Amino acid sequence: MKQYTRVYARIDLDAVIHNMQAMQANLTGGARMIGVVKTDAYGHGAVPVAQAIDPYVAGYAVATIEEARNLQLHGITKPILILGVTHPSRSRELVEYGIRPTVFTMEQARALSEAAEAGARGSQTPLCAKIHLAVDTGMSRIGLPCDAEGARLAAEIGRLPGIFVEGIFTHFARADETDKASALRQWERYRQFIRMTEAEGLKVPVHHVANSAAIIELGQTHWDMVRAGISIYGMYPSDEVAQENVKLEPVLSLHSYVTCVKDIPAGAEVSYGGTFKAESTTKVATVPIGYGDGYPRNLSGRGSVLIRGKRAPILGRVCMDQFMVDVTEIPDVRVDDPVTLIGCDGDDRITVEELARTGGGFHYEIVCDIGKRVPRVYLRDGRVVGTKDYFTDMYEDFVADSAKEDNDCRQQPGK
Ligand SMILES: *Cc1c(COP(=O)(O)O)cnc(C)c1O
Repeated sequence: MKQYTRVYARIDLDAVIHNMQAMQANLTGGARMIGVVKTDAYGHGAVPVAQAIDPYVAGYAVATIEEARNLQLHGITKPILILGVTHPSRSRELVEYGIRPTVFTMEQARALSEAAEAGARGSQTPLCAKIHLAVDTGMSRIGLPCDAEGARLAAEIGRLPGIFVEGIFTHFARADETDKASALRQWERYRQFIRMTEAEGLKVPVHHVANSAAIIELGQTHWDMVRAGISIYGMYPSDEVAQENVKLEPVLSLHSYVTCVKDIPAGAEVSYGGTFKAESTTKVATVPIGYGDGYPRNLSGRGSVLIRGKRAPILGRVCMDQFMVDVTEIPDVRVDDPVTLIGCDGDDRITVEELARTGGGFHYEIVCDIGKRVPRVYLRDGRVVGTKDYFTDMYEDFVADSAKEDNDCRQQPGK
């Protein structure tokens, strides 16, 4: 493994597996899990996460056709559902690759039906577009209208040639709140809708409704399958959900190293805008990560990091690639000391939820936003089993090319 000397995220696949088992133990009535790995598995890396959770899931869910295809090209063979809208012009790819689109209009369904039928004619083997219907029970995002008209449309879609309605689902807007009244209204509407579609003659094998919040707290909604997202990654959907039901372990930690240590005198300012001004001599350490890596700029002057097991508060604004922290109270801080931005050091821990609270951000967003410049290091049984580094290829090309470059130091005037 390459040594990462600036910043890296550590992904604990043992914690991922622990979280899958903890959720599985909480499922009702033999429900199976769909692993939601959209946005590159909430920033954790879709392929390694999908491989790790494969024994625990019936299939996967992503947001785009590219995300689905990426999993397949990396050897994932279980069914993949696209939760968002896929343009009808891409129907042929969906059918060819067996990727399940979310459908809720006749236009989408006809395009898929035609693609399946055309494929069947071309290859002389019947092709089938397996689809999942979405029903809008209260999110007002996507889905069939949750009424008699919607139920008729669902059944009509099911009768199109080349279409197999494998699943029918809806999505909760407020299952993560203490008050479950809204979620339970959505659940009732969904059940009513299923009764109406069945009366119209449509029978669907897979019903799925529950997100992480409902996996943890609404056992009655588990039905055939549940869609586990944030909880795979060891975070609760909100601090209102009953954490004792499913004990989750944090998966991601974020690490860097001190690049500069110095004393600044009283009156000296730190970072853009001079929003921090030292009142007395202050020991400042520089950390080489910034909002360009997805570290939230709204932690400027508010957040902290762990160095030598102690809290070092952020001084002034977080820059694109660096920021400064106060290490006056931490003895012996040196260049190359490890810095923990998320995770444990000694007895202290910084969670993603803490960063969200401190900066006024959202924990889902913080992990999704950890950028391409941050390599991911995967651990299993406490050992490094792989890395994901968007710049590996470029780095190797660069090393090869730079050897050919004219790099004579004597060009410098005065040498
Ligand atoms: C993202 C998403 C999920 C997962 O939600 P979590 O709160 O992360 O568990 C489930 N279903 C749909 C439709 C989604 O878009």
